[in-house]
Amino acid sequence: MRIAETTDKVANLLFEASARLEPEYGSDASIEARAILAGVLGCGTTDLFLRSREEVGPLFRDRFFELVERRLKREPVAYLLGSMPFFGIEFVATPDVLIPRPETELLVECALEILSRIPVNPKRVLEIGTGSGCIAVALALRSSSASILATDVSSPALNVARENARRVGVADKIQFTQSNLYTEISSGKTGHFDMIVSNPPYVRTREMRGLDPDLGYEPRVALEAGEQGLDVICPLVSGAPRFLKPGGILALEFGIDQSNLISELMVANRFDKLMIHKDFRGLDRVIQGEYRGSI
Ligand code: GLN
Repeated sequence: MRIAETTDKVANLLFEASARLEPEYGSDASIEARAILAGVLGCGTTDLFLRSREEVGPLFRDRFFELVERRLKREPVAYLLGSMPFFGIEFVATPDVLIPRPETELLVECALEILSRIPVNPKRVLEIGTGSGCIAVALALRSSSASILATDVSSPALNVARENARRVGVADKIQFTQSNLYTEISSGKTGHFDMIVSNPPYVRTREMRGLDPDLGYEPRVALEAGEQGLDVICPLVSGAPRFLKPGGILALEFGIDQSNLISELMVANRFDKLMIHKDFRGLDRVIQGEYRGSI
């Protein structure tokens, strides 16, 4: 539903799209419109100010309004545009994978810190639930000596992760395997990973309904984890000792109000030197602990 007399200058398109999105997004409508138009034109949102008088061709204009209509139905911008920046890298994002979140950059920062302290080379990393591959790819890119085994239960997700590793040029540093937690991973006699890293599903079932409607487009298996949100974290933590070297580190992202239970779980599974890191909102978000080895 376009207003016929308007011209197709950037500023007009943004004005028109903001009005269209306003009933759903209120005062954020223009932010939404800008994000979509910048994606369609392949520029940054701030560039749109400089380009406001620029004429937009009919193909771009039609594509833009098509995406605005989809956004009106709450489809996430990352899926509309097919990509999402994370840790300074552009990642392919499809509905087969969880959209990389800014808070997960904290997990990557912690994991890089941990890797920088591991003296051996290569540093062997296992990632559980790689999704888009954003964590594994960022680690492979920023840590020269990491050798990563990245797993996911979903084979379509692994295809996206492989594609991301290939695009970023780190495919030779990451091996991808379909596995439900540790089912397809061989542990060896003593466990041979220096670090296990994961952003598992951790949202409580009852919280799923109250969440942002955009989340309805994302894979449920990547988000929801039972009554307490711990259905995946519990076996993930209790299984980790079989796969870690003594002194190896487990680093996990988790959700609101889960830090006490997860700390207890880590201690019960022979992890110590626990550290909890807060995200940019000031919420406990990442835990790391060192495996003490078997008795
Ligand atoms: N932080 C995400 C969210 O609430 C959840 C990600 C996850 O379950 N790993 O949208």
